[in-house]
Amino acid sequence: MSTNTVNATQAHAESMFDAVLARLDVAAKLMNLSEEVLQVLRNPSKQVKVSLPIMMDNGKIQVFEGYRTVHSTHLGPSKGGIRYAMDVNADEVMALAAWMSFKCAVANLPYGGAKGGIKCDPRAMSVGELERLSRAYAVSMKDIFGVNRDIPAPDMGTSGREMAWILDEFNKINGEDSPGVITGKPIAIGGSLGRDAATGRGVMVNTLAALKKMNLKANEVTCIVQGFGNVGSHAARLLSEKGIKIVGIGDHTASFYNEKGIDIQAALDFAAKNNRVLKGFTGATEIKSSELLTSKCDVLVPAALQNVITEENAGKIQAKLIVEGANGPTAPEADAILNDKKIICVPDILANSGGVTVSYFEWVQNKAGYYWTEEEVNTKHDLKMEIAFEAVWNNATQFKTGMRIAAYITALQKIEQGVKLKGAY
Ligand code: GLU
Repeated sequence: MSTNTVNATQAHAESMFDAVLARLDVAAKLMNLSEEVLQVLRNPSKQVKVSLPIMMDNGKIQVFEGYRTVHSTHLGPSKGGIRYAMDVNADEVMALAAWMSFKCAVANLPYGGAKGGIKCDPRAMSVGELERLSRAYAVSMKDIFGVNRDIPAPDMGTSGREMAWILDEFNKINGEDSPGVITGKPIAIGGSLGRDAATGRGVMVNTLAALKKMNLKANEVTCIVQGFGNVGSHAARLLSEKGIKIVGIGDHTASFYNEKGIDIQAALDFAAKNNRVLKGFTGATEIKSSELLTSKCDVLVPAALQNVITEENAGKIQAKLIVEGANGPTAPEADAILNDKKIICVPDILANSGGVTVSYFEWVQNKAGYYWTEEEVNTKHDLKMEIAFEAVWNNATQFKTGMRIAAYITALQKIEQGVKLKGAY
């Protein structure tokens, strides 16, 4: 294990943001990033924490914590989702915001990075409670958000529904319709065709690009997808449409394996009728959730939570290729193990950048007031992803490093220009 990996391991134990910094430092050193630019990027530019008192359905007030961190704005207004989950905290939001800066730069979008969140359990709240919470959050962030300032989007625990409430509240405050202030909206109020499936689509394009480099054909490989939410379900569907045999799927309720291949349409239909969860699906054998990532396959797509590939299970992974649909699914200490095993890992900031790429298209359409066909969106998306993949792959070769650090380098090469060109006081 290199010293840098050891540092990353220690950092991870304490903080997710420190783990981001550890990887950032490795990339910065390798590409010879200026110390000044590194210092700028090691510090998020703005952090806001608010308290949101909400009248719950039982007539009692409950106070929620809300966050928004803007990591950088050197390449444009900051961009990034809003997460509703119980583990939301200042450190996690800061790490996710930094990843958005790097993700937008890798995908060549004119954006900086941000992330927000509310510490809550959306599954345990009524629709009315969630609406009041979302509206309260929008009001408290009215001076942060803006079409050319900071543009939120969905993330874990949120969807078009929450985006519509936040947009409505923002519009009421400002007395005008600003659809471009938020992306991932329902189509009827300015959303983009193709946005819903975009993150999964990006995973598919990145998988095919990596397989090509590995001289493997789609119809010769098997794949396991962990997570069956917005990212995992679309990724599984699109990968299977490209001829890849999906042998394993799973969500927070159950995991399944079938070496003959799983009928993904049947799984989607089942989940649609079953409260969007897989528990009870009969198209494959149920396995322990801990076995899903380490079962036999060629391609592994972790598309659920962060830190699921760890020091404990990394050594048992059988896949040759990992494509990170989730943000941060690989703990830093697992990176070295995957590298030793020569497993190619398409990192989150590249693999799941399809979502923010189509968010960017949505914002462009909102600004122009002119809307594209789904085919136009998908064609433009696929091209952008292929260019981003190629840039990262080339940097991996040039700097003799893995794709994760190469993706950071690709991002830093762009952000460095932004920081230098815009200058300082
Ligand atoms: N939450 C998504 C992500 O982590 C999308 C962000 C966006 O579209 O702004 O990439």
